[in-house]
Amino acid sequence: MKKYDMNFDTFLKEFKEHVSKLGFKNSIQKDYILKILYHSGEHLTAEEITFSVKKEYNIDVGIATVYRTMKFLEEMNIVESLDVGDGVKRYELTLSLHHDHLVCTSCSKIIEFSDELIESRQIKIANINNFHLKDHVMTIYGLCESCQ
Ligand SMILES: [Zn+2]
Ligand SMILES: [Zn+2]
Repeated sequence: MKKYDMNFDTFLKEFKEHVSKLGFKNSIQKDYILKILYHSGEHLTAEEITFSVKKEYNIDVGIATVYRTMKFLEEMNIVESLDVGDGVKRYELTLSLHHDHLVCTSCSKIIEFSDELIESRQIKIANINNFHLKDHVMTIYGLCESCQ
């Protein structure tokens, strides 16, 4: 369970203003999907999001809508996705501080970590190669303690 610096209402308000400014439509489905992601603080699949929106808020949202919305949110850089190796995307808000992941390929457990040395090495490697670093993905795949 993650804690974010920004409270949900402020986050949603800014998101909606941003969406309108870009000329896209806001929708109640988007609001509830973001609400689920914000409050769970987990890495959720589209199916889990669909299920939670229905369960928590009694809002019917089709899985196709969730997929479309997640694609949109990813393009807007509001969420990022992680593949635990089963080809199913798991989404989380980009609102949290940058972090990397350890993924268990047996039970799909996800552990978050951040490591200053890894971060600074990546900047160095980018510099050496005359690369302007914009983003990076670092995922360690393996077996968690209980699956070993
Ligand atoms: Zn495991
Ligand atoms: Zn994460």
